[in-house]
Amino acid sequence: MSDYTSTARADGAQVPTTFPPRRLWVGGRWRGASGGATYRSENPATLEHICDIADASAEDVDDAVRAAQAAFDGSGWKEMGGAERGRILFRAADLIEADTRYLSALETLEVGKLYRDGVFGDIPATLATFRYYAGYADKLHGSTVQLPDYAGRHRLNYTLREPLGVIGAITPWNNPIVVAGWKIAPALAAGNTVVIKPPEDAALSILRLAEILAEAGVPDGVFNVVPGRGPTAGAALARHPGLAKLTFTGSPEVGALMNTHAGGQFRKVTLELGGKNPQIVFPDADLDRALPFIAVGNFLHQGQVCAAGTRVYVHDSLVEEVTRRLADHAESLTLGDPFDADVAMGPVVNRQQHERIGGYLGLGVAEGAELVTGGSLAQRPGYFVEPTVFLGRHDQRIAREEIFGPVATIIPFSDTTDVLTLANDSHFGLNAIIYTEDLHTAQTTARDLRVGNVWINAFGIPDMTTPWGGRAGSGIGRELGAAGIEAYTEEKTVQMMF
Ligand code: NAD
Repeated sequence: MSDYTSTARADGAQVPTTFPPRRLWVGGRWRGASGGATYRSENPATLEHICDIADASAEDVDDAVRAAQAAFDGSGWKEMGGAERGRILFRAADLIEADTRYLSALETLEVGKLYRDGVFGDIPATLATFRYYAGYADKLHGSTVQLPDYAGRHRLNYTLREPLGVIGAITPWNNPIVVAGWKIAPALAAGNTVVIKPPEDAALSILRLAEILAEAGVPDGVFNVVPGRGPTAGAALARHPGLAKLTFTGSPEVGALMNTHAGGQFRKVTLELGGKNPQIVFPDADLDRALPFIAVGNFLHQGQVCAAGTRVYVHDSLVEEVTRRLADHAESLTLGDPFDADVAMGPVVNRQQHERIGGYLGLGVAEGAELVTGGSLAQRPGYFVEPTVFLGRHDQRIAREEIFGPVATIIPFSDTTDVLTLANDSHFGLNAIIYTEDLHTAQTTARDLRVGNVWINAFGIPDMTTPWGGRAGSGIGRELGAAGIEAYTEEKTVQMMF
């Protein structure tokens, strides 16, 4: 797509500014939504209009599912060898790599993500996911089990790993292409076809991905994109009887609706939901190593990260130092244009999130938490929030609910056994971060935390080689790693006597 206007910045970044309307990608071609419906996409840093985006209706979603089913049945995608599908997906990864700056710019423009985080984080992570599953495509197989003879006959059981069919994917705005890649790459590698409903606030990079996949050689109809609103396009996709599987990443509230939408249909589902993740700083933690991770765990992408560790349990002996150093870090963060290399924090994604985070800032004070720094919505145009540190208690709502903003709550603890109880006392169970130099503490705490992922002396983004997912209110199933592609297959057992 080169049909946009852009401005060149002093640092060489080419910043797209306005686009003509964006359409649906169905059956390998662009088309408008039925009735010509569109919605407005807005830049959260400037509040400027970026473009109008087609707003898919239930009828459009139905067309996309039909196109995906026709491609599953007749495009040759599932019959193609895994090596050939892998070759196409490797090519797609190369094209994503070549498009790094443009894709990053789209997400900065729509979501307010730091441009450098896209260039050095999100896009490299996405193409790594594509390469990982491209390499997996010809290594997916079943297993063989030899059984003892029965009544003088030999027996052999084996399993076949088959693609499921049409995969419906519904994704969130916070890491648009990264999270979409966790679904699209393994689903396609395994021979499925896909219909994705991208988030209202971040459809552009996924629409661009449609062009990239087509250029790489993915047949028409194998990959379809239906931008639109959650309660209409999203609900129509989640309800559609043509799906073999629904994979959803988003809030727990909408995640809970997913099975309701399926209305008693038996279908596979993966749900990657939110988190209110603990960071535990044990008394022997090396603070010089831990502090940068504690800070990133709270303020990366303005705190709009499902893995964010925003309840920070700190041993009494370290509370004063951690509080001071985290507050110093928060105060050092420059807010501003997310394209600017000197800026450390962009805006939050939209007005609704801005107001919601503002509500939590007031709530923290009303609940009696000590406001250490920040505490206000920034007084400037755009949806900016001051990075905030509270010194609070485990039972306060700011320490229990997912705020999805740059708001850290430090919670002192004295007993290293009790802190595990506090960390596990949550309806979420996505991940946890622990800081200790003691191997025994590290291993036993990692073992006893009721979460899907533990970082020890580190915080980062999930790695494509190992499974990622939550327990309890944080979801069902796993993405990434071997589990992340097997989830897009059916294992059929064949039992033979000869
Ligand atoms: P959201 O639930 O508001 O929206 C997610 C998607 O669901 C969007 O595409 C939206 O349009 C769609 N949707 C909304 N209402 C719908 C409905 N009634 N029926 C069908 N679809 C509907 O979430 P969000 O605000 O976009 O994302 C933030 C949330 O995502 C946070 O809770 C975050 O923790 C979570 N998240 C989790 C992970 C993970 O790996 N566990 C990763 C990223 C984000």
